[in-house]
Amino acid sequence: MRVLLIGNGGREHAIAWKLSQSDRVERIFVAPGNGGTATLAKAENVALSTEDLAGLRDFAAANAIDLTLVGPEAPLVAGVVDVFQEAGLPIFGPTRAAAQIEGSKAFSKQFMEKYGIPTGRAQIFDDFDQATRYLRSLDGVPVIKASGLAAGKGVILPETRSEAAAVLHAMLVERQFGDASAQVLVEERLSGPELSVLAFCDGETLRVMPAAQDHKRLLDGDYGPNTGGMGAFAPSPLATPELLAQVSAEILLPTVQGLAAEGTPYVGVLYAGLMLTPAGPKVLEFNCRFGDPETQVILPLLESDLAEICLACVEGRLETVTPSWRAGAAVTVVMASGGYPGEYTTGVEITGVEAAEALGCLVFHAGTKRQDGRLLTAGGRVLAVTALGDTIQAAAQAAYQGVAQIHFNQAHYRRDIGLQA
Ligand code: ATP
Repeated sequence: MRVLLIGNGGREHAIAWKLSQSDRVERIFVAPGNGGTATLAKAENVALSTEDLAGLRDFAAANAIDLTLVGPEAPLVAGVVDVFQEAGLPIFGPTRAAAQIEGSKAFSKQFMEKYGIPTGRAQIFDDFDQATRYLRSLDGVPVIKASGLAAGKGVILPETRSEAAAVLHAMLVERQFGDASAQVLVEERLSGPELSVLAFCDGETLRVMPAAQDHKRLLDGDYGPNTGGMGAFAPSPLATPELLAQVSAEILLPTVQGLAAEGTPYVGVLYAGLMLTPAGPKVLEFNCRFGDPETQVILPLLESDLAEICLACVEGRLETVTPSWRAGAAVTVVMASGGYPGEYTTGVEITGVEAAEALGCLVFHAGTKRQDGRLLTAGGRVLAVTALGDTIQAAAQAAYQGVAQIHFNQAHYRRDIGLQA
């Protein structure tokens, strides 16, 4: 099988790494890829942007690609699956219409309300005056969400109502996120631990993956600004078999059935970001793809062939496939450039990756590039060090031994990944 993988983050390195272990996969093209995918067995980077949908389609057609996988949400929401399908090219992911589950929080909220899927109550506004009037009618301080894609920055948790009003102004009037904040959700504030439950879907059947927990805040103890994710672990001890059965029955299945009933069947990875509230699990958000960095812990636990599962989804025969998962746990620690998620410098030399790998760690590159035989930083999140272990604690210990081998100037990482577990 010849596979095209779209994306360039740590998630894509983890997907490419897993694909490279498949006997069925003969070649992996990563567009555009990074310093990690560049040197992976069977893989090569292709200089195509994730936004160049026609270019990606033409590449797949010209290179006899048997299966395309998509890492990031933006090309899915822009309709890359529709573009490939129109050309008769097999691709694993939701169509543009089904990807609205992530691409439009307004769509997603209305969909959940229609199908009785548990989520925080919310009102949708495109008018600042109406939104502030509603805000004044509330007792507590709500969460404000831009409806469209905002690269993980579109959800604000204000401390006070006047702060909430300022956020509404920034989004609706100043258009802080452009068209993505033309509509906003004013949502009930929920509380409880968070859990990410991902499932493979073929439009009808679901196969749930081990539940993961990520660490979004920059600093130890969940302080500091939100980031793309500073680490993750799986399986989460919060995800008992009973809870997972409840999440499947009340959230994942009704979502897949509802999208099929709407005439937009969901194929791909369905990611439910949940809050385990005192009233039961509720959906904070859906994502229409693998998570980053959750993928860096989920795929190392997968024993089955990833390409075979994805192909079964594309061909509508997931019912015949039961993925197997290894016992034990995985932890990943993200190493970031100093200053991230604000300003940071790039082009800094990275050393010690081989030493970490020699200890048995998997080092997934995110923002790296190779130049003149040296490995350099090229982004905010630079790499993620994953280790397996019998327990989360053992895996965390092993991951931190790997982290200790890797050096670059001003490297920042959290020292408490996996410790909540
Ligand atoms: P991502 O990068 O994961 O796609 P996003 O910008 O789509 O992020 P969400 O994951 O929906 O944002 O929300 C970000 C965080 O905000 C959540 O992880 C959660 O901690 C918090 N949050 C979102 N909705 C609520 C809510 N209703 N009540 C309390 N906290 C919330």
